[in-house]
Amino acid sequence: DSEDEAPDKQLKLIVMGDGASGKTSLCMRYSQEQFSKDYGQTVGLDFYLKRINLQGNTNVALQVWDIGGQTLGGTMLDNYIFGAHGVLLVYDVTSFSSFENLEDWFNAVKKVCGSGPMPHMALIGNKSDLEHLRTIKQDKHQKFAQDHNMSNYYVSAKTGESVSQVLSLQVALCFQKI
Ligand code: GDP
Repeated sequence: DSEDEAPDKQLKLIVMGDGASGKTSLCMRYSQEQFSKDYGQTVGLDFYLKRINLQGNTNVALQVWDIGGQTLGGTMLDNYIFGAHGVLLVYDVTSFSSFENLEDWFNAVKKVCGSGPMPHMALIGNKSDLEHLRTIKQDKHQKFAQDHNMSNYYVSAKTGESVSQVLSLQVALCFQKI
């Protein structure tokens, strides 16, 4: 029974972005569907663990780190980023400032990686259910993703739209890198 065996691989996926962009909701939404919340380890860090089975019967221990209270320039931020295979860069489609700050979040990852390889990064426009309040147009979203060589998606942590599909896809893409 593969459940009893040690996972072959560990994947670390981190969720970054401005406060109130929906990082916690996104993790909670995914956890309700597929995860169990493991523990809230320290202030500003929630950690979710899920064992999944990928094609070819490969076991993966997926760690999702929700960098809650960590702000840009926070002292713990580099530690959270270190060793991540994948990064979900989240903004709120109704918040211009959350979009404006994406560049700084991206640069924080770049700084930690130095001359080494970058993790797989995905741009997540959250709150797609608030279409009528959207302030960031689709072309800006797409241009940012293109300029930074990222996959890009819209999700709603509130309705659950695309959440499990996007996270599952990110896991598969990250897995190709390890
Ligand atoms: P965090 O600070 O990035 O972890 O953001 P939270 O997950 O705490 O969410 C901030 C606020 O946005 C909360 O009031 C959430 O209920 C709300 N929120 C999060 N995701 C969505 C979404 O997809 N749609 C809507 N309408 N509200 C959301």
